[in-house]
Amino acid sequence: MIKFLKLLVLSSLFSCGNSVPIFDAERSFDFLEKQCELGPRFPNSAEIQLCRDFIINELENCGAEIQQQKFSAIIDEKKINGVNIIAKFYPQMSRRILLGAHYDTRPFADKDPNPENHKTPIIGANDAASGVAVLLEIGKIISQKQPQQFGIDLVFFDLEDSGIYGDNETWCLGSTYFAENYFSEKPEKAIVVDMIGDENLEIFIESFSYHNSPNLVKEIWQKAKLLNFDEFKFKIKYRIYDDHFPLIKNGFNAVDIIDFDFSDWHTLADKPDKCSPKSLNAVGQTLLHIIYGE
Ligand SMILES: [Zn+2]
Repeated sequence: MIKFLKLLVLSSLFSCGNSVPIFDAERSFDFLEKQCELGPRFPNSAEIQLCRDFIINELENCGAEIQQQKFSAIIDEKKINGVNIIAKFYPQMSRRILLGAHYDTRPFADKDPNPENHKTPIIGANDAASGVAVLLEIGKIISQKQPQQFGIDLVFFDLEDSGIYGDNETWCLGSTYFAENYFSEKPEKAIVVDMIGDENLEIFIESFSYHNSPNLVKEIWQKAKLLNFDEFKFKIKYRIYDDHFPLIKNGFNAVDIIDFDFSDWHTLADKPDKCSPKSLNAVGQTLLHIIYGE
């Protein structure tokens, strides 16, 4: 870890210039671990409410303007209550960037190699906590230094991960509600992050993102290349129905940053030991360069 920190400091000094703040990868990783310590955070559980409280508390400490967007959905004939958490930073700024991540975790480890675990809920270190961890760290940074060109909206989506495989409409319920009930002027850029904590991070270009928003994809991947984050691969690999899709469908300029090659996806092994601060840093620092325009 010490070696990594040294490298991190050196590469940050080398690459960030004066005006782009440095992403604190260790603090971001703390945010990941704190979510996991709450336990599985699936819909209607006590733990997901604890996670909401945790996210809201962190955002309040950053002075963000917070809205809880409540909605409900029927999943498997059961009524589920969802809450999207929307945090606005510098609401007076007309040019805006939206960053999104889901915070709910899958209620069952149905890809676990052991069939006996298929009904057990997952901890979801990579699949959910990693994206939230990056956004919370970015919230801390932007609260301390106002970006010159953009106000920022951080959106924490609920009910992404309770769907049925092959049935797209059952996934991404929070982002669908958000996108269909969004009536103000759209942000210039919307970037969703999901599953970006994998210690073997490889972020290929997601197909829907590229076809809808090629310029934003190019901006992000080129920025990562300039920063020497070779975790970003300039090649399309998967077509993924993630929280960016309802945004795209409703007219947003939206891109998903996701590493879908994660062997512990929807298994009980998706725990913090499969994630690394270095991976959070590659995504977080790249996003800061988009936000601060360098
Ligand atoms: Zn998932």
